[in-house]
Amino acid sequence: MSQNKSFYITTTLPYVNAEPHIGFAMELIHADIIARYKELCGFEVFFNTGTDEHGLKLYQKALGFGEDPQAYVDRYVTRFKELKDVLGLKEDLHFIRTTDSQHKKSAQNFWELCDKNGYIYKKLYKTKYCSGCELERLDHDLINGKCFLHPNLDIIFLEEENYFFKFSAFEKPLLDFYKNNPDFVIPNYRLNEIRVLIERGLEDFSISRLKEKMPWGIDVPGDDKHVMYVWFDALVNYISTIGWPDSMREFEKWWPVVQFAGKDQIRQQAAMWQAMLMAVGLPPSRQIVIHGFINYEGQKMAKSLGNVVSPQEVIAKYGLDALRYFIAREFNQFEDTDVSWDKLKIAYNANLANGLGNLVSRVMKLAETRLSQPVIVKSLIFDKELASFLDKFEIQKAMNYIWMEMGDLDALIQEKKPWESKDREVIADLVIRLAQIGFSLTPFMPETSAKILSAIKENKMPASLFPRKDA
Ligand SMILES: [Zn+2]
Repeated sequence: MSQNKSFYITTTLPYVNAEPHIGFAMELIHADIIARYKELCGFEVFFNTGTDEHGLKLYQKALGFGEDPQAYVDRYVTRFKELKDVLGLKEDLHFIRTTDSQHKKSAQNFWELCDKNGYIYKKLYKTKYCSGCELERLDHDLINGKCFLHPNLDIIFLEEENYFFKFSAFEKPLLDFYKNNPDFVIPNYRLNEIRVLIERGLEDFSISRLKEKMPWGIDVPGDDKHVMYVWFDALVNYISTIGWPDSMREFEKWWPVVQFAGKDQIRQQAAMWQAMLMAVGLPPSRQIVIHGFINYEGQKMAKSLGNVVSPQEVIAKYGLDALRYFIAREFNQFEDTDVSWDKLKIAYNANLANGLGNLVSRVMKLAETRLSQPVIVKSLIFDKELASFLDKFEIQKAMNYIWMEMGDLDALIQEKKPWESKDREVIADLVIRLAQIGFSLTPFMPETSAKILSAIKENKMPASLFPRKDA
């Protein structure tokens, strides 16, 4: 296939120690929808996810369990690998671990090139550090002496000689790049946030740790006293996963990437990582798509609050395609979403049981009883308007468009009253419109879409797609 018909999309790589939560499920499902859409448009797609397995936090957790860090991450990684089946993700999803030997080698090559280009130096490092974030914390990030995101963790005072990355050299190159690429971050008001941050000035950041204090990382090339800082290692996964630097043909086939990430990752993905790419002379990412957070009844989800909604629970209650529907349409794509079990139930009954499920039953019941043969549906493609949303990664708007089409089809049935007229042409037309809706749903709800299209092919009313839930 020609180069312009290849498409590379990735999620971020979560730390492997926590249960996969619904926020990450959202990131994966958003990326899966776009990957499936692109494939249906004729692109060859590389879809990447994986796990971030180094750093202080994981090292401390492993020590806490009295376990070797490698054994610890090996044990926990399976819960993330399982997500492919749990969430119904594309079969050919690529899963990278930052402990893979190929990744480690790639990260070391990256370091060497950065160093050769003059962007790495050594100096004394004194800082306050949050192991929860694996980030430095400035005084204004602290509340009562603790990280604002991790009030249960102690801030660590670090003082050691470290290697530094000359981030400050990239203020102007980054600002120029954003200026020339106003769509680089979606939604674009997030680009303003990062621009403001950079205009305040960038500081070089430490990219190594003394091995005698924290050995759980990739060895710094040429210095056996240091391992790499976890972010510097993990961000390189986006190029190591497509073969950089050993298979440059593969790399060039796929690069640049579209990255899906949460709103707490803008600085790392849109600035740090882009500066790192500039430092080694590689082209920047294609686009960064930033999603919001998911809260429960106005509160952050937390184990300690007992309000965590897991993707598995939602699936157990409503089914996989209902979860994919909630995420794609009922959750805000770019802003925070407030969920509750009540809201999910209401949305399920209104839009899946009474909405989509009911519409399919109505049309297919008419078809089954009034038509002697299946309606022949010509090959289907995405509506222009729907495609224009998905080309801009606007998943929620794309879903709203499909539900609008469903509303139009409902209205048409009311208007034509085919159960009275028994007009076969009208019924066949309804079936063709339903086929278009079934096809449009393919990237979002693959199972449901297949059921609708096969019901049309067999000219049979399917079993209820979304039975009403009263509990
Ligand atoms: Zn923190």
